[in-house]
Amino acid sequence: MEKREELYRGKAKSVYKTDDADRLILLFRNDTSAFDGKRIEQLDRKGMVNNKFNAFIMQKLEAAGIPTQFDKLLADNEVLVKKLDMIPVECVVRNYAAGSLVKRLGVEEGMKLNPYTFELFLKDDAKGDPFINESHVVAFGWGTAEQLARMKELSLKVNDVLSKLFDDAGLLLVDFKLEFGVFSDGSIVLGDEFSPDGCRLWDKDTKKKMDKDRFRQGLGDVIEAYEEVARRLGVPL
Ligand code: ADP
Ligand code: UDP
Repeated sequence: MEKREELYRGKAKSVYKTDDADRLILLFRNDTSAFDGKRIEQLDRKGMVNNKFNAFIMQKLEAAGIPTQFDKLLADNEVLVKKLDMIPVECVVRNYAAGSLVKRLGVEEGMKLNPYTFELFLKDDAKGDPFINESHVVAFGWGTAEQLARMKELSLKVNDVLSKLFDDAGLLLVDFKLEFGVFSDGSIVLGDEFSPDGCRLWDKDTKKKMDKDRFRQGLGDVIEAYEEVARRLGVPL
């Protein structure tokens, strides 16, 4: 397997073609962004920690029957994945109120959501990732109703699997964002990454924030918190 030219440079990862038309390499950089890319900083070890964290989680999800992009870890910062035609929609599942939900509805941070909520955002930094609903996805052709139904089904399954996994590690899975794409066989597959950059994790007892909110809110020790989560889960770093 040979690494070929860069296809795309995102805010946190670079995407490379390979000699296999069905595979890409994701390179996790140390760049850390917030507020739709308006603030970017380099954090030592972040690329390596998120790459290994993501590989660990994707393999847990595969084992639970969720189709993911994961193929194999290639290096500290690189992973081989299935090449997907990404659906430009972010699926957000929330178990507790935080972030934009608190701002939008004025509810108290930490309020238990019963049942969980499922939200969609258009992946478009220039427009500030606007909140959308299912009819927008279909009407504007970002995905079909069937694809959307599958994305929702898989998102809720991810929530079941990971809520338990984090709970066993003494952490609350507050919310998370997933991105899906279409593989060459037409199936919907989980893409992008699952790491503390794209979810909220709080210590169950102290409610200490252990995710990217430490960066967004200037709380410090960002990567130290990611490493602590990895240690509790048993992710080999
Ligand atoms: P962003 O685009 O939000 O700045 P990243 O820096 O994480 O994000 O860049 C990674 C890009 O690669 C994203 O646009 C993401 O949708 C895309 N991507 C992630 N996984 C895959 C995949 N398996 N196949 C194709 N594209 C992918
Ligand atoms: N999220 C993400 N990328 C985005 C927007 C949100 O990974 O572009 C994640 C975020 O880390 C959180 C969840 O999705 O775990 C819900 O985010 P929210 O809508 O509360 O927005 P935020 O306040 O993070 O901007």
